Amino acid sequence: MAPTSQSKPTPAAPINCKLLLIGNSSVGKSSLLLRFSDEQWLPEDESSATIGVDFRVHRMEVNGQKVKLSIWDTAGQERFRTITSSYYRGAQGIILVYDVSNRESFDALPRWYSELETYVSNSVVKILVGNKIDKEFSRQVSTAEGEQFAKRMNSLFIEASAKTAIHVNEAFQEVVEKILETPELWESQKGAGQHTGGGRGGMPGGVQVVGLTEGQKSAQGGGCAC
Ligand code: GDP
Repeated sequence: MAPTSQSKPTPAAPINCKLLLIGNSSVGKSSLLLRFSDEQWLPEDESSATIGVDFRVHRMEVNGQKVKLSIWDTAGQERFRTITSSYYRGAQGIILVYDVSNRESFDALPRWYSELETYVSNSVVKILVGNKIDKEFSRQVSTAEGEQFAKRMNSLFIEASAKTAIHVNEAFQEVVEKILETPELWESQKGAGQHTGGGRGGMPGGVQVVGLTEGQKSAQGGGCAC
């Protein structure tokens, strides 16, 4: 039957958000993503350092606003290195991860921030996540130190554990809330037909990515701003 003028109004379209996880290899980026999007934890196997998840779509509602997140895990995946700048393009939120039990991963943060200076605008929301707080016994970076550094870098801050799930949802939730409080990051989507950025293959910047799964293709071509 054809829809009539009495048809129910369509619910407000979701806002599309692109989030990136960055940080040294083995800090737990993939694990945080799996924990958040799939509520999953793969048992540790220290011999296989990096799990390697590259992409997830996650729908959530924040303060009554529907949000469709596409979350990319680029770091540590050297095969993507050549298109790094394109991955950064269009991101509204960046999750910088270090391992509280690995000083080196914390000391590497200035390099990650300087990459951000090159590739993303100042208004992009950043959160610094100190992961693996379940390893309290081998902690090498104090909470205060993480907090101070995040403040200096104009970032939100949280400590979490992908293993125990503590503060994982909160980390993602906080970024999205801040993005929604920053209209310039998503306002262009309204009434703009939610284009993909005009890239060939749906990737911002026109980079053709081969070998995408069906889920990735639909996320890129399905009106996502990423
Ligand atoms: P990535 O390279 O940054 O994506 O890191 P992965 O997610 O692949 O994790 C690297 C290793 O750290 C794996 O052995 C994970 O099981 C382990 N790991 C990740 N998150 C945690 C955590 O919160 N606590 C502990 N104890 N181990 C973790």
